[in-house]
Amino acid sequence: MPRTDVVKVILPESEIPTAWYNILPDLPGEPLPPLHPGTGEPVGPADLAPLFPEALIMQEVSSERWIDIPGEVIDIFKTWRPSPLYRAHRLERALGLTPGKQRIYYKWEGVSPGGSHKPNTAVPQAFFNKQAGTRKLTTETGAGQWGSSLAYACALFDLQCEVFMVKVSYEQKPGRRTLMETWGATVHASPSDRTESGRKILADHPDSTGSLGIAISEAVEIAAQSDDTHYSLGSVLNHVCTHQTIVGLEAKKQMDAFEDTPDVVVGCVGGGSNYAGLSYPYAADVLAGEANTRFLAVEPDACPTLTRGTYAYDFGDTAGMTPLMPMYTLGHDFVPAPVHAGGLRYHGDAPSLSGLVKAGLYEARAYPQVPVFEAAVMFARSEGWLPGPEPAHALKGAIDEALAARAADEERVVLFNLCGHGHFDISAYEAFLGGELEDLQLSDEDLAASLATLPPQPANA
Ligand SMILES: *Cc1c(COP(=O)(O)O)cnc(C)c1O
Repeated sequence: MPRTDVVKVILPESEIPTAWYNILPDLPGEPLPPLHPGTGEPVGPADLAPLFPEALIMQEVSSERWIDIPGEVIDIFKTWRPSPLYRAHRLERALGLTPGKQRIYYKWEGVSPGGSHKPNTAVPQAFFNKQAGTRKLTTETGAGQWGSSLAYACALFDLQCEVFMVKVSYEQKPGRRTLMETWGATVHASPSDRTESGRKILADHPDSTGSLGIAISEAVEIAAQSDDTHYSLGSVLNHVCTHQTIVGLEAKKQMDAFEDTPDVVVGCVGGGSNYAGLSYPYAADVLAGEANTRFLAVEPDACPTLTRGTYAYDFGDTAGMTPLMPMYTLGHDFVPAPVHAGGLRYHGDAPSLSGLVKAGLYEARAYPQVPVFEAAVMFARSEGWLPGPEPAHALKGAIDEALAARAADEERVVLFNLCGHGHFDISAYEAFLGGELEDLQLSDEDLAASLATLPPQPANA
């Protein structure tokens, strides 16, 4: 029986995991390699060298199940890790769940300096770059969480940081920009006139509100031009998902302290990293035949990569400079409607997560933003924390799982990742409370048009 006298479990610093879990060697089937954008040949470590330091490239392609976390990185993690894991007693009561029968838990990643899970990878990425002699990192950011997390990490290691911020967010969220500048970063609205890729988009679409794909093209272009500058990505890549597994590794210990085990693990998916982070340590048990946990990935209706996208090789960016990755995609020049979950507006998803969905091990579901904000407000009024619009999608999925179990009179333990706070998303809450939030649907025609731009597929894919 689970302990019902506990609200949260906070582990001591000595319980911070000392190794990350790399899911690559445990994935079902033969891995499909990323392909070079020019030649179509599998990408080797040398192809990635202009963008990433060797240590991160080795992690990207590693077949080791466990990767040591450097002591210097753990020392910085002690600022906010281990993060707390809560039992949502008050939310359960507000939902009218059957007492004790449907139980909801959440891992709370909003306690980091950046306010989300993103510093879990920003700090090691800055560390490995510093070690390799990098002087400047470039990156893209959507809602600003990744840019601010990388700005924070660069400040710790005395690295310069240049951020291309999706224009719609740059305008909607000036607070995030100021936060990045406070940590010492330089921020440009993307598309910008500072790069070839940005100027090309502006020439064709002067009113472009930008996308993560465009901003990635700009950041990669700058990094590829100089030896002392590298590029840093906040999601999708394998080393990023691996860094985030610290979340799930802690969560497992905390669920043990609650003397409970999740039946379903839920997360929101932008590029897949926070959900990979919480869920992969649980997926490891399922892949080893030792558990039958269910997994539910939640995304916005307006950017339905897993639920309406195609599994294919596609570029990670709009200009087609990144390797081709096998993943669910909406097409690399997809520009989603400006929904408030800026972190979930990416056209693709992590190849590892895409593979798990394709294999039927992970389920996926999409929600429109109005019911998502209803769930977020209910959560704020019961549990107190203000969810970011992105994890509010996971929250909505978790609530629906618990309500479905109540309707079926079943026991169900739900664990979700509350991967960031919404303190910089007040304008979205304002729109919702004022009844002005709209559900922005993606039409079949727009989806088909975007998918028509997929690059030619290799014969064996
Ligand atoms: C960036 C971000 C996301 C989306 O990215 P993933 O890689 O899918 O996790 C979700 N939530 C928050 C709070 C974010 O900052």
